[in-house]
Amino acid sequence: MARVIAIANQKGGVGKTTTAVNLGASLAASERRTLIIDSDPQANATSALGFPKDPARRTLYQNLILGESVERIVLDAKMDRLELVPSDKNLVGAAVELVNMENREYRLKESLAQLREKYEYILIDCPPSLDLLTVNALAASDSVLVPIQCEYLALEGVSELLDTLMRLRRTINPSLAIEGILLTMYDDRTTLSKQVAADLRSFFGTQVFETVIPRNVRLAEAPSHGMPVLFYDIHSKGAESYIQLAKEVIANAQKRVGQGSERADQGAGAPTSPTASAAAAGAGATGGTSSSSDGSSTSPQPD
Ligand code: ATP
Ligand code: MG
Repeated sequence: MARVIAIANQKGGVGKTTTAVNLGASLAASERRTLIIDSDPQANATSALGFPKDPARRTLYQNLILGESVERIVLDAKMDRLELVPSDKNLVGAAVELVNMENREYRLKESLAQLREKYEYILIDCPPSLDLLTVNALAASDSVLVPIQCEYLALEGVSELLDTLMRLRRTINPSLAIEGILLTMYDDRTTLSKQVAADLRSFFGTQVFETVIPRNVRLAEAPSHGMPVLFYDIHSKGAESYIQLAKEVIANAQKRVGQGSERADQGAGAPTSPTASAAAAGAGATGGTSSSSDGSSTSPQPD
């Protein structure tokens, strides 16, 4: 039964797609059957996996709007155990067309129901917005992974995102957990990066992944070669960091199993952790109305 993880942050350019592609490839390399769903009309994950624009290709649009089975759309991502549901610019229309559709928040969730048995991980690359595509992704997911760039104003928008997550938990997906907050584009030569990372860790505590993704030129170059960094330069710091992240994601899943799947499935119903409360308080600080009971999660608690 797949764990479905939305990779979301409405802020642009923080490393969502880089994470979807390279975490996906690293999970596949760790022998986990993985599906990446490109739910962003920019189609960056699609091209980063080596599929240039092709108007004839079926995409997530055909599934969400025309009701075609996802199985007819899935592509082999040129690596064992890695598959892709591609996107293209038509998906812009989907965000609008969904508005008047029945069950508009749950269309992706319904499509994934039949796929969950086939994969161990399903990663959804979200667009940089909180539109209906992102809402569909969050409604369909077990958890959300939030990449945050280690830069000035890193926290800007995060409170708004957390606020939205709290609201979604109360309404369309009560079991949505925080998979983790991922520090990206970390540059250990700058005091600013160190300071931002320290601030985020003190704010979010153990909800932050131990793995930190460094700023690494190989990560930025790999998409133009249409391949995950693992194939482009396996010895790069970027490749190492995503392999490490995959290990952490897998280890956290094993811990959850250890804690009992029932509790893991409960998500928001699980006991409140101090760090989750801090995150909830963060959302509240910007005008959110979250209570600490909403702030609970089954999020990983890295040692
Ligand atoms: P969008 O919101 O537009 O979808 P995004 O959040 O998906 O953006 P990415 O596309 O993953 O962000 O990254 C933005 C840019 O930064 C890309 O050019 C990418 O190659 C580059 N990049 C991402 N992560 C790193 C990194 N760790 N080191 C260097 N460059 C990176
Ligand atoms: Mg992206």
